[in-house]
Amino acid sequence: MKKLKIAIQKSGRLSEKSLDIIREAGIKLTNGKRLLLAQATSFPVEVLYLRDDDIPQYVSDGVADIGFVGEDVFLEGGEKLDIVLRLGFSKCRLSLAIPKGFGYDSPKWFSGKKIATSFPNILRKFLEEHGVNAEIHKISGSVEIAPGIGLADGICDLVSSGSTLMSNGLKEVEVILRSEAVVIARPVLELSKVRILNEFIFRLKAVLSARDNKYILLNSPDESLEKICSILPGMQSPTVMPLAREGWSSVHSVVNENTFWEAIGQLKDAGAKGILVIPIEKMIQ
Ligand code: ATP
Ligand code: MG
Repeated sequence: MKKLKIAIQKSGRLSEKSLDIIREAGIKLTNGKRLLLAQATSFPVEVLYLRDDDIPQYVSDGVADIGFVGEDVFLEGGEKLDIVLRLGFSKCRLSLAIPKGFGYDSPKWFSGKKIATSFPNILRKFLEEHGVNAEIHKISGSVEIAPGIGLADGICDLVSSGSTLMSNGLKEVEVILRSEAVVIARPVLELSKVRILNEFIFRLKAVLSARDNKYILLNSPDESLEKICSILPGMQSPTVMPLAREGWSSVHSVVNENTFWEAIGQLKDAGAKGILVIPIEKMIQ
Protein backbone atom coordinates (compact mmCIF):
# COMPACT_ATOMS: atom_id res chain seq x y z
CA MET A 1 0.00 0.00 0.00
CA LYS A 2 1.27 3.49 -0.87
CA LYS A 3 2.17 5.72 2.05
CA LEU A 4 1.37 9.39 2.44
CA LYS A 5 4.64 11.36 2.67
CA ILE A 6 4.57 14.21 5.17
CA ALA A 7 7.26 16.92 5.18
CA ILE A 8 7.97 18.68 8.47
CA GLN A 9 10.67 21.10 9.60
CA LYS A 10 13.83 19.31 10.74
CA SER A 11 14.67 21.76 13.51
CA GLY A 12 13.18 25.10 14.32
CA ARG A 13 10.05 26.70 15.70
CA LEU A 14 7.63 24.33 13.97
CA SER A 15 9.35 20.97 14.45
CA GLU A 16 8.34 19.98 17.98
CA LYS A 17 4.79 21.28 17.68
CA SER A 18 4.31 19.46 14.38
CA LEU A 19 5.62 16.21 15.85
CA ASP A 20 3.45 16.66 18.97
CA ILE A 21 0.23 16.89 17.00
CA ILE A 22 1.18 13.88 14.83
CA ARG A 23 1.90 11.89 18.01
CA GLU A 24 -1.33 13.01 19.64
CA ALA A 25 -3.14 11.77 16.54
CA GLY A 26 -1.94 8.29 17.52
CA ILE A 27 0.83 8.04 14.91
CA LYS A 28 4.10 6.65 16.27
CA LEU A 29 7.31 7.33 14.38
CA THR A 30 10.10 4.79 14.49
CA ASN A 31 13.48 6.44 14.11
CA GLY A 32 14.76 9.75 15.44
CA LYS A 33 15.39 12.91 13.51
CA ARG A 34 18.95 11.99 12.61
CA LEU A 35 17.63 10.25 9.53
CA LEU A 36 15.92 12.21 6.78
CA LEU A 37 13.03 9.77 6.69
CA ALA A 38 10.97 8.28 9.54
CA GLN A 39 8.41 5.50 9.23
CA ALA A 40 5.18 5.26 11.19
CA THR A 41 4.29 1.97 12.77
CA SER A 42 0.56 2.33 13.19
CA PHE A 43 -0.52 4.40 10.18
CA PRO A 44 0.44 4.42 6.46
CA VAL A 45 2.55 7.59 6.48
CA GLU A 46 6.25 8.46 6.44
CA VAL A 47 7.82 11.69 7.62
CA LEU A 48 10.55 13.64 5.82
CA TYR A 49 12.56 16.15 7.85
CA LEU A 50 13.49 19.24 5.80
CA ARG A 51 14.44 22.93 6.00
CA ASP A 52 11.16 24.81 6.22
CA ASP A 53 11.90 26.96 3.16
CA ASP A 54 12.19 23.83 1.01
CA ILE A 55 8.89 22.26 2.09
CA PRO A 56 6.48 23.96 -0.38
CA GLN A 57 8.80 23.16 -3.29
CA TYR A 58 9.17 19.50 -2.27
CA VAL A 59 5.39 19.15 -1.94
CA SER A 60 4.90 20.81 -5.29
CA ASP A 61 7.47 18.48 -6.93
CA GLY A 62 5.82 15.38 -5.42
CA VAL A 63 8.79 14.40 -3.22
CA ALA A 64 6.37 14.84 -0.30
CA ASP A 65 2.55 14.76 -0.54
CA ILE A 66 1.77 17.21 2.23
CA GLY A 67 3.79 19.57 4.42
CA PHE A 68 3.62 21.32 7.79
CA VAL A 69 4.84 24.88 7.24
CA GLY A 70 4.33 28.52 8.23
CA GLU A 71 1.74 30.21 6.05
CA ASP A 72 4.33 32.98 5.54
CA VAL A 73 6.83 30.59 3.94
CA PHE A 74 4.09 29.00 1.82
CA LEU A 75 2.88 32.36 0.48
CA GLU A 76 6.43 33.56 -0.14
CA GLY A 77 7.17 30.48 -2.25
CA GLY A 78 4.03 31.02 -4.34
CA GLU A 79 3.54 27.32 -5.18
CA LYS A 80 0.09 26.24 -6.37
CA LEU A 81 -0.88 24.14 -3.37
CA ASP A 82 -3.94 23.98 -1.11
CA ILE A 83 -4.07 24.78 2.60
CA VAL A 84 -5.95 21.72 3.90
CA LEU A 85 -5.80 22.57 7.61
CA ARG A 86 -4.88 25.54 9.80
CA LEU A 87 -3.03 24.33 12.88
CA GLY A 88 -3.47 27.29 15.26
CA PHE A 89 0.12 27.33 16.53
CA SER A 90 3.25 29.38 15.67
CA LYS A 91 1.09 32.45 15.22
CA CYS A 92 3.08 35.48 14.11
CA ARG A 93 2.83 38.43 11.75
CA LEU A 94 5.01 39.65 8.91
CA SER A 95 5.57 43.34 9.56
CA LEU A 96 7.48 46.36 8.42
CA ALA A 97 9.63 48.02 11.07
CA ILE A 98 11.79 51.13 11.17
CA PRO A 99 14.22 52.67 13.69
CA LYS A 100 12.36 54.01 16.74
CA GLY A 101 13.42 57.63 16.35
CA PHE A 102 11.61 58.22 13.02
CA GLY A 103 8.08 59.52 12.58
CA TYR A 104 5.81 57.38 10.38
CA ASP A 105 2.50 58.04 8.68
CA SER A 106 2.03 55.65 5.75
CA PRO A 107 3.82 53.05 3.58
CA LYS A 108 4.98 56.03 1.44
CA TRP A 109 7.63 56.48 4.13
CA PHE A 110 9.52 53.64 2.40
CA SER A 111 9.69 55.40 -1.01
CA GLY A 112 13.29 55.47 -2.21
CA LYS A 113 14.40 53.55 0.90
CA LYS A 114 16.09 50.20 1.30
CA ILE A 115 14.27 47.35 3.10
CA ALA A 116 15.96 44.15 4.29
CA THR A 117 13.83 40.98 4.33
CA SER A 118 13.71 37.20 3.87
CA PHE A 119 10.29 37.63 2.22
CA PRO A 120 11.00 39.60 -1.00
CA ASN A 121 7.96 38.30 -2.93
CA ILE A 122 5.35 39.15 -0.29
CA LEU A 123 7.02 42.51 0.34
CA ARG A 124 7.20 43.37 -3.39
CA LYS A 125 3.46 42.71 -3.74
CA PHE A 126 2.65 44.88 -0.71
CA LEU A 127 4.80 47.76 -2.00
CA GLU A 128 3.21 47.54 -5.46
CA GLU A 129 -0.29 47.61 -3.97
CA HIS A 130 0.63 50.77 -2.08
CA GLY A 131 2.41 52.40 -5.04
CA VAL A 132 5.71 52.53 -3.17
CA ASN A 133 9.02 52.30 -5.00
CA ALA A 134 11.61 50.92 -2.59
CA GLU A 135 14.71 48.79 -2.89
CA ILE A 136 14.35 45.24 -1.50
CA HIS A 137 17.48 43.72 -0.05
CA LYS A 138 17.11 39.95 0.45
CA ILE A 139 18.92 38.41 3.41
CA SER A 140 18.28 35.00 4.91
CA GLY A 141 18.71 35.59 8.64
CA SER A 142 19.21 38.17 11.41
CA VAL A 143 17.18 40.69 9.44
CA GLU A 144 16.56 42.78 12.57
CA ILE A 145 20.18 43.96 12.76
CA ALA A 146 20.20 45.36 9.18
CA PRO A 147 19.24 48.98 10.04
CA GLY A 148 21.72 49.09 12.97
CA ILE A 149 24.65 48.14 10.75
CA GLY A 150 23.65 50.50 7.95
CA LEU A 151 22.51 47.77 5.56
CA ALA A 152 18.93 49.03 5.23
CA ASP A 153 16.56 51.82 6.34
CA GLY A 154 13.88 49.41 7.52
CA ILE A 155 13.02 45.73 7.65
CA CYS A 156 10.18 43.37 6.81
CA ASP A 157 10.29 40.42 9.21
CA LEU A 158 8.30 38.00 11.36
CA VAL A 159 7.17 39.34 14.73
CA SER A 160 5.36 37.69 17.60
CA SER A 161 5.87 39.57 20.89
CA GLY A 162 7.90 42.41 19.37
CA SER A 163 10.72 42.03 21.88
CA THR A 164 13.37 41.31 19.20
CA LEU A 165 12.37 44.51 17.40
CA MET A 166 12.48 46.48 20.62
CA SER A 167 15.90 45.22 21.63
CA ASN A 168 17.20 46.28 18.23
CA GLY A 169 15.78 49.81 18.53
CA LEU A 170 13.03 49.20 15.97
CA LYS A 171 9.27 49.80 15.96
CA GLU A 172 6.57 47.94 14.03
CA VAL A 173 4.75 50.25 11.61
CA GLU A 174 2.72 47.99 9.26
CA VAL A 175 1.38 44.44 9.50
CA ILE A 176 1.57 42.87 6.02
CA LEU A 177 0.37 39.37 6.87
CA ARG A 178 -0.87 37.29 9.82
CA SER A 179 0.47 33.75 9.80
CA GLU A 180 0.12 30.42 11.60
CA ALA A 181 1.31 26.89 10.91
CA VAL A 182 -0.71 25.20 8.15
CA VAL A 183 -0.85 21.84 6.37
CA ILE A 184 -0.34 22.22 2.61
CA ALA A 185 -1.07 19.60 -0.03
CA ARG A 186 -0.97 19.21 -3.80
CA PRO A 187 -4.45 19.87 -5.21
CA VAL A 188 -4.48 16.47 -6.95
CA LEU A 189 -3.34 13.31 -5.16
CA GLU A 190 -3.87 9.70 -6.16
CA LEU A 191 -6.98 8.16 -4.68
CA SER A 192 -5.25 5.84 -2.21
CA LYS A 193 -3.37 8.83 -0.78
CA VAL A 194 -6.50 10.99 -0.64
CA ARG A 195 -8.04 8.34 1.62
CA ILE A 196 -5.05 8.42 3.97
CA LEU A 197 -5.00 12.22 3.91
CA ASN A 198 -8.69 12.41 4.85
CA GLU A 199 -8.18 10.07 7.79
CA PHE A 200 -5.06 12.01 8.84
CA ILE A 201 -6.87 15.37 8.73
CA PHE A 202 -9.84 13.87 10.60
CA ARG A 203 -7.47 12.82 13.40
CA LEU A 204 -5.66 16.17 13.50
CA LYS A 205 -9.00 17.99 13.75
CA ALA A 206 -9.95 15.79 16.72
CA VAL A 207 -6.69 16.76 18.44
CA LEU A 208 -7.16 20.47 17.67
CA SER A 209 -10.78 20.51 18.92
CA ALA A 210 -9.71 18.75 22.11
CA ARG A 211 -7.04 21.43 22.68
CA ASP A 212 -9.64 24.18 22.28
CA ASN A 213 -12.12 22.69 24.74
CA LYS A 214 -12.42 21.56 28.35
CA TYR A 215 -14.73 19.05 29.99
CA ILE A 216 -16.52 20.63 32.92
CA LEU A 217 -18.38 18.99 35.85
CA LEU A 218 -20.22 20.84 38.57
CA ASN A 219 -22.93 20.51 41.20
CA SER A 220 -25.99 22.67 40.94
CA PRO A 221 -28.98 23.26 43.23
CA ASP A 222 -32.03 22.07 41.27
CA GLU A 223 -33.60 25.54 41.30
CA SER A 224 -30.53 26.95 39.45
CA LEU A 225 -30.37 24.18 36.82
CA GLU A 226 -32.08 26.12 34.06
CA LYS A 227 -29.80 29.14 34.51
CA ILE A 228 -26.66 26.99 34.67
CA CYS A 229 -27.58 24.94 31.60
CA SER A 230 -28.12 28.13 29.64
CA ILE A 231 -24.52 29.17 30.40
CA LEU A 232 -23.24 25.73 29.31
CA PRO A 233 -24.31 24.99 25.76
CA GLY A 234 -21.79 22.14 25.30
CA MET A 235 -21.41 20.10 22.13
CA GLN A 236 -25.13 19.38 22.13
CA SER A 237 -26.72 19.93 25.50
CA PRO A 238 -25.40 19.42 29.03
CA THR A 239 -25.84 16.08 30.83
CA VAL A 240 -27.81 16.43 34.08
CA MET A 241 -27.84 13.66 36.72
CA PRO A 242 -29.41 13.68 40.21
CA LEU A 243 -27.02 13.59 43.18
CA ALA A 244 -27.57 11.43 46.24
CA ARG A 245 -28.17 14.66 48.13
CA GLU A 246 -31.79 15.76 47.69
CA GLY A 247 -32.34 18.93 45.62
CA TRP A 248 -28.93 18.83 43.87
CA SER A 249 -27.78 17.66 40.45
CA SER A 250 -24.48 17.02 38.72
CA VAL A 251 -24.02 18.83 35.38
CA HIS A 252 -21.45 17.79 32.73
CA SER A 253 -20.58 19.74 29.60
CA VAL A 254 -17.85 20.97 27.24
CA VAL A 255 -16.68 24.59 27.26
CA ASN A 256 -14.56 26.36 24.67
CA GLU A 257 -11.21 27.67 25.91
CA ASN A 258 -11.99 31.17 24.61
CA THR A 259 -15.15 31.56 26.69
CA PHE A 260 -13.91 29.46 29.57
CA TRP A 261 -13.12 32.04 32.29
CA GLU A 262 -16.19 34.08 31.53
CA ALA A 263 -18.36 30.93 31.82
CA ILE A 264 -16.75 29.93 35.15
CA GLY A 265 -17.55 33.36 36.65
CA GLN A 266 -21.16 33.17 35.53
CA LEU A 267 -21.52 29.59 36.83
CA LYS A 268 -20.29 30.57 40.28
CA ASP A 269 -22.65 33.53 40.36
CA ALA A 270 -25.51 31.21 39.39
CA GLY A 271 -24.80 28.96 42.42
CA ALA A 272 -22.60 26.21 40.94
CA LYS A 273 -20.44 24.35 43.48
CA GLY A 274 -17.50 21.93 43.21
CA ILE A 275 -16.59 22.92 39.66
CA LEU A 276 -14.09 20.50 38.06
CA VAL A 277 -12.35 21.23 34.77
CA ILE A 278 -10.74 18.35 32.88
CA PRO A 279 -8.62 18.33 29.70
CA ILE A 280 -10.08 16.43 26.75
CA GLU A 281 -7.92 13.81 25.05
CA LYS A 282 -9.69 13.78 21.64
CA MET A 283 -12.90 15.41 20.46
CA ILE A 284 -14.82 14.11 17.43
CA GLN A 285 -17.36 16.58 16.05
P1 ATP B 1 14.95 26.42 8.83
O1 ATP B 1 16.28 26.11 9.40
O2 ATP B 1 14.07 25.18 8.78
O3 ATP B 1 15.00 27.14 7.52
P2 ATP B 1 14.04 28.96 9.92
O4 ATP B 1 15.06 29.56 10.82
O5 ATP B 1 13.88 29.48 8.55
O6 ATP B 1 14.23 27.37 9.90
P3 ATP B 1 12.09 29.28 12.07
O7 ATP B 1 12.70 30.47 12.70
O8 ATP B 1 12.18 27.97 12.77
O9 ATP B 1 12.59 29.08 10.56
O10 ATP B 1 10.55 29.66 11.80
C1 ATP B 1 9.66 28.75 11.21
C2 ATP B 1 8.28 29.36 11.16
O11 ATP B 1 7.87 29.68 12.49
C3 ATP B 1 8.16 30.67 10.40
O12 ATP B 1 7.98 30.45 9.02
C4 ATP B 1 6.93 31.29 11.03
O13 ATP B 1 5.75 30.77 10.46
C5 ATP B 1 7.05 30.84 12.47
N1 ATP B 1 7.68 31.91 13.28
C6 ATP B 1 8.78 32.60 12.98
N2 ATP B 1 9.07 33.53 13.91
C7 ATP B 1 8.12 33.40 14.83
C8 ATP B 1 7.88 34.05 16.07
N3 ATP B 1 8.64 35.03 16.51
N4 ATP B 1 6.84 33.63 16.79
C9 ATP B 1 6.05 32.64 16.36
N5 ATP B 1 6.22 32.00 15.20
C10 ATP B 1 7.24 32.37 14.44
MG1 MG C 1 14.00 28.63 6.91
